[in-house]
Amino acid sequence: AIAPTAFANGPALWSCHLPRHGSFTHKFERGAVAVLAGGIAGVGAPRLGARAALRIGAGLATILCAPAALAAHATRGPDALMQRSLADETGLAPLLEDRRLSVVLAGPALGLDARARQLVAALVHSSKPLVLDADALTILAENAEALSRLGQRNATCVMTPHEGEFRRLFGREPAIDRDSSKLERARKAAAFSGAIVVYKGADTVIACPDGRAAINATGSPALATAGSGDVLAGMVTGLVAQGVPAFEAACMAVWLHGKAGEALGFGLIADELPEAVPPLLRTLA
Ligand code: AMP
Ligand code: MG
Repeated sequence: AIAPTAFANGPALWSCHLPRHGSFTHKFERGAVAVLAGGIAGVGAPRLGARAALRIGAGLATILCAPAALAAHATRGPDALMQRSLADETGLAPLLEDRRLSVVLAGPALGLDARARQLVAALVHSSKPLVLDADALTILAENAEALSRLGQRNATCVMTPHEGEFRRLFGREPAIDRDSSKLERARKAAAFSGAIVVYKGADTVIACPDGRAAINATGSPALATAGSGDVLAGMVTGLVAQGVPAFEAACMAVWLHGKAGEALGFGLIADELPEAVPPLLRTLA
């Protein structure tokens, strides 16, 4: 059943879930993130996601890229970021079994080739928490079997589509009609897919399959810039890595991302967004 009202997204909704780490914490306790990356043409987007995950507090982030891109990743900062070559799904299987890996982000510049399709199929058949964005959403939109698997998984999944990706994913679903409001469409998409849906835009809506939904009020058109969505996906990933429940993690990330956009204003480039997160977190602590 779909709850009749939506929340206004703000700290009251999720501040009790803000990550808190004791004096004796260690990096694996703060959560390890893997970011599936593509080839040489797209090294920036996955790095923005990984950087955002680290800035929001994840303990460890590893880029898993196509073999041809390994050298390009290795020669770029931040030095804290690790990189490994991942040729195909056989390399992914043991990582998905590793209990120290908290969550996988896939999509930003993942590519749309056979390798990318294989990797996305392997993810949806795994029981790892997932954050899916960009190319991973385009691949899912063309793979009805994989999309329908999402709701049957016993781990959480957050999808972060913008308008075009949302239409590709759900445009053929008669129940998710274009006439209903963005809020209703987000809710129906969450119920249909079994994933938490972050339906992005100037008025981002976050909807959970259990019926909860939140409408975001922070943000700036300055966020309409390349890489901005990749940072948001990384922020969600970093919070899920730290054990924040996925709906609250999505709401918190969207709110903070909007605040970072407000603070930086026009002329911001997405590279600067992750750096704006720690000061914002301190205002909430
Ligand atoms: P993407 O299209 O994947 O790069 O994601 C863009 C990000 O910027 C999303 O988080 C959007 O919600 C945000 N965004 C885009 N346009 C606007 C806007 N006009 N006002 C506020 N936020 C926006
Ligand atoms: Mg995007």
